[in-house]
Amino acid sequence: MASTTAHTQQAKSGNRFGALLLTCLPALSPCGAQSEALEKSLGEINTLQERVELPHQNPVYLLTQDEVIGVQDGTIISITEQAPQGATTFDLTAYTVLPGLIDLHTHFLQTGSTDIDEAAEQASSYLESGFTTCLDLGSPNNLSLQLRDAIERGDMKGPELLVSGKIICGDPSRDGEDLIRYVTGVEEVRQAVREQAELGVDWIKIATSDPGQCMVHDESYTMLSKEEIEAAVDEAHKHGLKITAHAHGSLGFELAVKAGVDRIEHGTFMTRAHIDLLLEYDTTLVPTRFAWFYNYSLAVHAAKKEPPAQARKLLEFYNDEAIESERILQEAIQSGVKIGFGSDLGAVPHLGEKIARNINEFTLLEQVGLTPKQLITMATSGAAEELGLEDHIGKLEVGFEADIIAVPNNADKDITSLTMPVFVMSDGEIIKDDVR
Ligand SMILES: [Zn+2]
Repeated sequence: MASTTAHTQQAKSGNRFGALLLTCLPALSPCGAQSEALEKSLGEINTLQERVELPHQNPVYLLTQDEVIGVQDGTIISITEQAPQGATTFDLTAYTVLPGLIDLHTHFLQTGSTDIDEAAEQASSYLESGFTTCLDLGSPNNLSLQLRDAIERGDMKGPELLVSGKIICGDPSRDGEDLIRYVTGVEEVRQAVREQAELGVDWIKIATSDPGQCMVHDESYTMLSKEEIEAAVDEAHKHGLKITAHAHGSLGFELAVKAGVDRIEHGTFMTRAHIDLLLEYDTTLVPTRFAWFYNYSLAVHAAKKEPPAQARKLLEFYNDEAIESERILQEAIQSGVKIGFGSDLGAVPHLGEKIARNINEFTLLEQVGLTPKQLITMATSGAAEELGLEDHIGKLEVGFEADIIAVPNNADKDITSLTMPVFVMSDGEIIKDDVR
């Protein structure tokens, strides 16, 4: 095959302990193995290569182990056995080629920040890390809409974004926060959903239970009443929008599922009864393990600064919580609850890493029993379905958007391979090409 190879030469988490740095859990932690794996996957993240863009008006062909993927104008135009004579090709035969990854729960604006430049840097890092589509579930002053539009216009590099803007929340202690649209009463809930819809959001997010309750298990706790949650779901669906609920457990979780939300975020303190509800209503759970793990690490370290007796009490508490949250998630998975891939990055700081750390979610989900193959499906075709975009993204098929990545060749056995994309194409544009 006489073809020119065009390789380029450069080719609210609500944590009350403040912003400590991510550190390993102490040896006494039941999650020591998790910690090691996390550190390992952080360590394996490659340094960024300089981004190189190529013109893509003419078709390019990606040679994979099984087929040749033709791409033009941002779309997969052909799947064939051979590239045409003289065509521009990229030889990815030594790698595993996958659809671009999809993160169902991100915050491009870090908690507490309204710095658009910082968000732009993060958007770029998500893309370089192989994430070509993200759902942003909570942004101060609805800034994520501007980010989404800037990316769509081509003014900013980043994954295709879907956004919820502000989080609709009934907790009076959050009233006045940039991130929160505080509501009280059914009418105000409807009004808030309408406002978000009119602004042009893609999803509605409500908060119905909070991690703040984790020190006090009050199963009757909810941030919004049954009527308020039902009104939010009704109003969102009336506007053709999907709605998700931030819910860690308790009554707020139960009411949200029963009211018909499309998804639950977190579920950290759910019970068997919550699992049964998820199954009964066929509701997807996005467990955001990385966010929980991160905040748990912070809490454990903060606890160590307390007087010994108090520290022991706190450590015991958090260790028990860690064991139980992992156990109940395993039970949910084994029971057949649909699990979605979402990192909650942004609620968890990036710590200046140039590469987005969404990938840590894979490692943590593998540790609760999901196989690399299941995880890859979750973060590609499964996530596309969650977003209602299953006819456009998440698969390498003719007519689909040309969101394509290549990773080292054992991704279905070693999920950390996904931390090392050597090639990233987004909407047909070459974002990264480290293939030699
Ligand atoms: Zn979040």
